[in-house]
Amino acid sequence: MISLLGIPYDASSSFMRGPAQAPEAIREALLSPSANLSIENGMMFEFGQTVTDLGNVDFRELDFESESAGTGRAIARERITASVLEALKTNRKLISLGGDHSVTYPILQALAPQYDRLTIVQFDAHPDLHEDFEGDRYSHACPFARILEEFSHVSLIQIGIRTLNQHCRSQAERFGVEVYEMANLPELGNLRIEGPAYISLDLDVLDPAYAPGISHHEPGGMSVRDVITQIHRMDAEIIGADLVELNPTRDINGVSAMVAAKLTRELAGKLLETPATR
Ligand code: MN
Ligand code: MN
Repeated sequence: MISLLGIPYDASSSFMRGPAQAPEAIREALLSPSANLSIENGMMFEFGQTVTDLGNVDFRELDFESESAGTGRAIARERITASVLEALKTNRKLISLGGDHSVTYPILQALAPQYDRLTIVQFDAHPDLHEDFEGDRYSHACPFARILEEFSHVSLIQIGIRTLNQHCRSQAERFGVEVYEMANLPELGNLRIEGPAYISLDLDVLDPAYAPGISHHEPGGMSVRDVITQIHRMDAEIIGADLVELNPTRDINGVSAMVAAKLTRELAGKLLETPATR
């Protein structure tokens, strides 16, 4: 059994709001009679059987708009970390449904201290390694800089990047990030990771033709099948995952939500293949 946790948060998105609506959109797609419970490895994605839904992190009454929005966002991060720690008490692996990508930092603040070493596999069009973005160190353009500077035992592998500027290139060198840019993707092969690994899946790693319901359309990306194949063939013990940046306000006929639901099921299948160890 694995747990699902919704993180309806988009106050650290630099361009547009919308990903706060993602958890409900993904749940709706998962439960749609037009969808399928089958996971490709032969398992089933069934609430109450293989999956339990913990609901959403509660951000009610937090102010993300006025002058004190910075405080609201800091409290939001604390609530995400606390909710993940609470979820871990069950000893079930967790898939978080975001949210903008800033949520991965507070998630890892809960997860990383549980392990002696941890590898994050990030699927993304963007490196998200900015020291700060438009004055915000906790923007969705920054989470992996925060994670890597706080946790020296965490390493990062990035897949599908196609927006690597000079600043992020030097940040990647500084933190020893293994970057597989989209242009070099054929060199990737199948990932083999020693020790526990965590998957952070930004939906914009996909070509926007497959999933237009995202805030930052960056053409030239992976296909849904490319991502699923990478997940299936990864030789690693996956201890948790997040799926972020679905923006239902930009979706067309719910097609991106359905892609997110499919990826959630395949992530669940991968997590279910090995027992939780901590
Ligand atoms: Mn991202
Ligand atoms: Mn991205």
